[in-house]
Amino acid sequence: MAKNHNDLWENCLNIIRDNVSPQSYKTWFEPIQPLKLIDSVLTIQVPSQFFYEWLEEHYITLLKKVVKKELGPEGRLEYSIIMENHTNSKQSYSVKLPTTDKKALVNPTVNMPIDLGGNKSIKNPFIIPGLKKVNIDSNLNPNYTFENFVEGDCNRLARSAGYAVAKNPGGTSFNPLMVYGSTGLGKTHLLHAIGIEIKKNFPNKTVLYVPSEKFINQFIDAVKSGSNNDFVNFYQLVDVLIIDDVQYLAGKEKTQDVFFHIFNHLHQNGKQLILSSDKPPVELQGMEQRLLSRFKWGLSADLQIPELETRIAILEKKIYNDGIELPKDVIEYLAYSITTNIRELEGALISLIAQSSLNKKEVTLDLAKKMIDKFVKNNAREVSIDYIQKVVCDYFELPIELMKSKTRKREVVQARQIAMYFAKNYTKSSLATIGAHCGGKDHATVLHACKTVNNLMETDKRFRAYVDELEKKINI
Ligand code: ADP
Ligand code: MG
Repeated sequence: MAKNHNDLWENCLNIIRDNVSPQSYKTWFEPIQPLKLIDSVLTIQVPSQFFYEWLEEHYITLLKKVVKKELGPEGRLEYSIIMENHTNSKQSYSVKLPTTDKKALVNPTVNMPIDLGGNKSIKNPFIIPGLKKVNIDSNLNPNYTFENFVEGDCNRLARSAGYAVAKNPGGTSFNPLMVYGSTGLGKTHLLHAIGIEIKKNFPNKTVLYVPSEKFINQFIDAVKSGSNNDFVNFYQLVDVLIIDDVQYLAGKEKTQDVFFHIFNHLHQNGKQLILSSDKPPVELQGMEQRLLSRFKWGLSADLQIPELETRIAILEKKIYNDGIELPKDVIEYLAYSITTNIRELEGALISLIAQSSLNKKEVTLDLAKKMIDKFVKNNAREVSIDYIQKVVCDYFELPIELMKSKTRKREVVQARQIAMYFAKNYTKSSLATIGAHCGGKDHATVLHACKTVNNLMETDKRFRAYVDELEKKINI
């Protein structure tokens, strides 16, 4: 049995690692620090209240089991929560308060009317000059709600962090909240959902959503017309600032500079910032270091490619919202065929429905196949090793990382062998390439895998049924 808390926790982690996905492990277990072990009580340190609640909600059974296994029936687990407070940052910077209208700045109210007529008021860059009185329009798309944002492993962390922020904007350690992921995976949708939820929970808060391109253009206009102070002041009024696609700020030094000041002012005053980017902060090139370091103050959560079930759920939700019915096999076919981009997935669905109503034909699997062939050919899709691995992993409900890892767990080994078998039969890849994709195995292992699968198919009916079913899924 382990003597000290470090060894003990290490033992626990070894078990946990085998029981959760690598993504979950990295997100929820790596940040934990073992603190002490006194009698049979192990104390672990977690980074936030939210983190603790998440562990309690999702991993308590696993944690209990592991701790009891390591410490015996008396074993207990206690948490120590560190409260990070980034607001008291050591960094010093100054933000000029405008000489006019200080009261409004200190205590901004909702929908504050902004008078564009007088010199003393702050210009709202969203408004075409000439209008007299305006409210700050949040620019939120009412369809992009949390309710319409299907939850899956691919977005769980980002979604729940967004939800936590919406419950307590400016009051969690997720400030800024940075959502990143490649295109079409739901960043914009999630940002709007958070904004909408905040408006619902706190009708008095000023929420502002702005794509960064718009922010850049407004700033350029402000500079041209000599109203940059108004621009800054306007942005400093909001309670929740949501900026989409901050990667477009790369290389725009002046805009970054002004954004830096707005960021600091809001952050210092306990206002919430929510950002999105197509890359994680560390990979954002052309961005000033001081901004990057601020992006890392809060939480960066990624959106990943959705798993098959999530893709199906997204399609079903969309169909349901539109009041349409589609055969189950058609939905599954779409979800199998388009794997990496939710926007494309929705696009295919829309084309399919449009085609069927134009031609007055029922949506059948056959029509779907024809349509998808056209739709997906543009992307030059062919069956790839990755695709095969994805289908096999989805089928056996295994995280794809495990298949690509070296693990020898029985169910992974078998799934991996099946994937190798299909890769050999359906792609032009060499045995060595296939092996490299499947946990760094050599060509002999791949050959052996193919033999094993062939043998099993002859002797084991159930196994054969798996492989036949998988073959259909890969072939469509
Ligand atoms: P991004 O900003 O990352 O490029 P979007 O937010 O524009 O992606 O999402 C693309 C489309 O996919 C949108 O129509 C959005 O509603 C939809 N979508 C993305 N994620 C989900 C989800 N989890 N549930 C339902 N729809 C989603
Ligand atoms: Mg977007």
